[in-house]
Amino acid sequence: MQVLKTVKEIQDYTSKQRLNSSIIGFIPTMGALHAGHISLIHASKRENDITICSVFVNPTQFNEPTDFQKYPRQVESDLIKLEGAGCDLAFVPAVGDIYPEPDLTTYDLGIVATVIEGAHRPGHFNGVASVVKRLLELVKPHNAYFGLKDYQQYLVIQKLANLYKPDVKIVGCPILREESGLAMSSRNQLLSEKGKEIASNLHKSLNLVKNNSEQYSAADLEKIGIAYLESKEGIEPEYFMVVDKHSLIQSQDQNSNNLIALLAARIEGIRLIDNMFLA
Ligand code: AMP
Repeated sequence: MQVLKTVKEIQDYTSKQRLNSSIIGFIPTMGALHAGHISLIHASKRENDITICSVFVNPTQFNEPTDFQKYPRQVESDLIKLEGAGCDLAFVPAVGDIYPEPDLTTYDLGIVATVIEGAHRPGHFNGVASVVKRLLELVKPHNAYFGLKDYQQYLVIQKLANLYKPDVKIVGCPILREESGLAMSSRNQLLSEKGKEIASNLHKSLNLVKNNSEQYSAADLEKIGIAYLESKEGIEPEYFMVVDKHSLIQSQDQNSNNLIALLAARIEGIRLIDNMFLA
């Protein structure tokens, strides 16, 4: 596996691959890789000639300085995992390479970027849009892979790609979970064993709501989800929403085929998100 660090190197590499007519798959990550990330590498390897993964903790998407400082960084072991997964190229840029100048653009990505996480984490999706647009411009992939674990992010990036990079296909990949049901996340390493056990209730709350989705309205399902989380010691719920899976707004449509439940909660001070389609 090749490891490239500079913008010039990655541009030269991907231009050459494109001249060779290689189909390029790309997975942007912030590192501290786990099996969820690796599943995206596998998806890309199945569908492309060349798989490129970036490891870059993007400062502009953190709206809390302590979250950015605490975010786990372990590039050496990430590179070993990527090589083991058969990734062809790891791109590990420095902040100055991605942002030679601060990106002051305000991206208008519509309602999907302003509700739920957009409302709870001001500036977050603008930072995500900024880094993903820059990375897509540098890597010029044919296909880019994103986890449905960050479902709203996936919708935001689809919108971003439609606006700025319509030639890139955005592929959403299923959520990988621990045996306990806890959605895999780099942030899980910041939890104690007890914290992880408590965090498995997030998945349980989503299952509970899904199992009741035929009998209750979206508004009542939200109440059921929040009440479940509040009943568990050690969980501080931030939101539990049941919304239309395309628009992310509350809908009168009771057809569970169109609904998704999304939640955010803090456990031991660590903010976790999860979601589940209700059908
Ligand atoms: P991150 O490093 O957290 O920015 O994540 C990089 C990519 O991996 C994003 O597209 C995430 O949605 C995806 N990802 C993170 N956790 C999981 C998971 N448990 N299952 C599937 N994809 C995931």
